[in-house]
Amino acid sequence: MSVAFPVTAPEGALPAALVERLGSAAARSAATGRPDETLLAELGEAGLFGVAVPAAYGGFGGDATLINHVVAQVARVNPSAAIMLFQHYAVSARVEEWGDAAQRARLLPALAKGDLLAASGWSEPGAGAAKKRLNTTAVRLPDGRWRLDGTKSFTTGAGVAGLYLILARTAEDPGAAGAAGAAGAAGAAGSTNDERDSGYGASGQTFFLVPADDEGLRPDQSLDLIGMRGSATGFVSLHGCVVGDEDRLGPLGEATRIIAGVRRTGATLGAVSLGIASALLDLAVEQVNRRPGPPDQVTRFRLVDLATRIEAAHAVIDRSGRRDAADPGLATLHSKLFATETAEQVGVEVARLLGSAGYTVANRVNGLMADARAVAHMGPTNDLCRELVSSTWLG
Ligand SMILES: Cc1cc2nc3c(=O)[nH]c(=O)nc-3n(C[C@H](O)[C@H](O)[C@H](O)COP(=O)(O)OP(=O)(O)OC[C@H]3O[C@@H](n4cnc5c(N)ncnc54)[C@H](O)[C@@H]3O)c2cc1C
Repeated sequence: MSVAFPVTAPEGALPAALVERLGSAAARSAATGRPDETLLAELGEAGLFGVAVPAAYGGFGGDATLINHVVAQVARVNPSAAIMLFQHYAVSARVEEWGDAAQRARLLPALAKGDLLAASGWSEPGAGAAKKRLNTTAVRLPDGRWRLDGTKSFTTGAGVAGLYLILARTAEDPGAAGAAGAAGAAGAAGSTNDERDSGYGASGQTFFLVPADDEGLRPDQSLDLIGMRGSATGFVSLHGCVVGDEDRLGPLGEATRIIAGVRRTGATLGAVSLGIASALLDLAVEQVNRRPGPPDQVTRFRLVDLATRIEAAHAVIDRSGRRDAADPGLATLHSKLFATETAEQVGVEVARLLGSAGYTVANRVNGLMADARAVAHMGPTNDLCRELVSSTWLG
């Protein structure tokens, strides 16, 4: 199946056939806990992978408003596919922003066409939400290449992605220099990151673009999640994973600069939550419409209150996408916080409204509530958003 993707303006809608496929794939993944790889191919054929890639490289050249709009629409029917797309868009945008001419020419056309699905491996056991304590190391080899070792956890798209953006600790960095001295790679492996760094990430960290077919990279989809069950969120281990210096993205030891820039782009995971909240409201409206007779006033007013909150979430996400706030980075953090909390609260209200009918494993409300919870955990976690916002006021 090939469906042309007509969304060239924010108000554009996804093709009905694609919406149907996203919905049927979501239902199947909810039962199996597995991603639908055929769906991913269809999303690629429909052109959805190219939203964040500039037209010069075969993409749509979409801005944050379009990215948020597409992600919210996909999330309304399939939140797992939405987070995979969100990560893909994020990596595509980082390559566009920080890649050199050769990296952009090599990767962006494939990312746009859907030949390459991109994933992000930043999290790892013990690293903390702010990724200050990475155990994954990248060690420079005498021939100039890099050897990566470590294990990433909760990587969305593990095993289905063709390219992984891996955050690793490097030896040749300003943060590790004091602790590791000239000991180089071995010294870096035994040192800690600079804990004095504020915000997200730490000095001495570097990004690498690792192809899935690297012999040292092994994905593992054994994580059994309560939500986002079709997102292939799993582990990625790197053992003796060797990449060239041409696979390093951005400045050595200064991944924090790249990370800080992410939120200023206006693309927000809050868009996933907006889609989930809208799906929850759809469920409630369907249920109320199935009841005999017109709904009572209390029920109608409850539905209106939910819709009003969702409208407000929509508004903050649009503001984040427009990047016209005094501080666009803060607006993006606020939008994630507000939209994720809205989706979680709407879930509780809708579950109550559905009554016992909603209290079955098969009822979609439970999967959507688990999906809503996932977005609050995704980076930057909601508490880390609060930390980042408050630190701009309080120093
Ligand atoms: C469905 C799903 C998909 C995901 N996809 C990806 C992905 O594609 N790539 C990826 O790299 N990661 C991904 N993650 C992982 C996610 O980014 C991490 O769960 C997140 O960064 C938190 O890490 P942690 O659980 O180790 O945090 P912990 O440090 O264990 O946090 C525990 C709690 O403490 C709070 N906390 C910790 N440190 C701080 C701080 N400095 N300031 C304020 N609060 C703090 C956290 O907010 C959290 O509530 C995904 C997670 C989920 C659930």
